[in-house]
Amino acid sequence: MRYYSTRSRGEPASFARAVLTGLAPDGGLFIPEEIPQYRDAVRSSLGTMDFRDIAFETIKPFVHSEIPDPVLTDIVHSAYPFAAPLVEAGDRQVLELFHGPTAAFKDFGARFMARAFSYLRRGEEKPLRILVATSGDTGGAVADGFYGIPGISVTVLYPKGRVSPLQERQIAGLGGNIDALAVEGTFDDCQRLVKAALGDESLKKRLALSSANSINVARLIPQGVYYAAAAGRALEGGVNEDGEATPRDRAGEHAGPRPAAVRKRNFRTVPGEPIVFCVPSGNFGNLTAGLYAKKMGAPIKLFIAATNINKTVPDYLESGRYEARPSQATISNAMDVGTPSNFERMAAHWSLEELRTLIRGVSVTDDETRRAIAAVHETLGYFLDPHGAVGWEGVNKLWDQDLLEDGPLAVLGTAHPAKFGEVVEPLAGKIPAPPSLVTALERVPQARTIPADIAALIEAL
Ligand SMILES: *Cc1c(COP(=O)(O)O)cnc(C)c1O
Repeated sequence: MRYYSTRSRGEPASFARAVLTGLAPDGGLFIPEEIPQYRDAVRSSLGTMDFRDIAFETIKPFVHSEIPDPVLTDIVHSAYPFAAPLVEAGDRQVLELFHGPTAAFKDFGARFMARAFSYLRRGEEKPLRILVATSGDTGGAVADGFYGIPGISVTVLYPKGRVSPLQERQIAGLGGNIDALAVEGTFDDCQRLVKAALGDESLKKRLALSSANSINVARLIPQGVYYAAAAGRALEGGVNEDGEATPRDRAGEHAGPRPAAVRKRNFRTVPGEPIVFCVPSGNFGNLTAGLYAKKMGAPIKLFIAATNINKTVPDYLESGRYEARPSQATISNAMDVGTPSNFERMAAHWSLEELRTLIRGVSVTDDETRRAIAAVHETLGYFLDPHGAVGWEGVNKLWDQDLLEDGPLAVLGTAHPAKFGEVVEPLAGKIPAPPSLVTALERVPQARTIPADIAALIEAL
């Protein structure tokens, strides 16, 4: 597969070059020259295949001969000892993407990426430095994915004071080949600094640099796997609670009788009916990966892009005008992005009209998010994290406005609720934390603070 920049059809790059350089020379993002199709035999058995086999089939055409089959098989098996259960929650499904080591969906991209980098760099002398900007979860997932990988070090930039204490420990508590910089600014500042550093000629002479943000195709491609697996399963009419579904504290039941006249939503799976995915979105990497999976042939009907008040993309879908803006802080902080970098990718593949047929946008306030967390726990005993809750409530808002039909639908649970205990617990009570989070909390964060300017970053590097 050849990769091109979103900005020009100049020289194509190999998968290795697209991945190892991160950003195209003209400042654009790499996109594949075409989105491949699943083989018929794969498309028709997505509902029954093992998660690792779907991972292999999804990633293979994007890496083609650059990663040999036996190596790719090893990579997907070591990257994904966990999977993504599709669980029932009241009137809909939740696709739980938080059963990896840092309890957020970014583990899927970061763990593949670390292994792919390590293979593609075999035999290189010059150590590689990976730069990553994070609004919270990316940094932890990338740090964990690359921790201890020889020949590669990672510098994580995060907005000082804007990530949770747990996220800070996941980012800055590992030490070793993982370096953490607390930037006095917003996530957008961190992202801008990374882009500037990757484009800095003098720095590039001194260091082999790459990025691990969702602008990197190696993060994006494996995120299509869980969409394909869940869509296949849903098409068979089933959910799958294999693995450890998130804790509930009692069996799901509705609180009290409802008046007969009240319409009731129904998003249960039905055999033969393709599913709608509601994707809580910030930088739009996850949603872009979903669009790729649909294009590859996964049976997906529609996407809902649910954002917090940082609603650049929902506004674009409505007005047709794209207006990037500064990010605003919310309780779903991993989605506090005013300038979603993957928008450039979406716009390179699809026109506004096409995007309007593929995606419906909706935005949700912090108050609405809090109400959803409390209500879902109250009626179902199910814990939502603030990001999943944005998705949950976004679905309700669209349905209430008659902008969404009944039919199979899953909200993506992008983080484990225990990861955001300081928001969720006052609303829903104590959440049992998975062991990986308990361990992370015991670490001591060690970050250096820098102002939000490129000179300071260059000096720190
Ligand atoms: C990163 C993140 C998101 C947003 O995903 P994008 O790919 O940036 O749109 C949503 N929820 C959680 C928990 C995240 O960590």
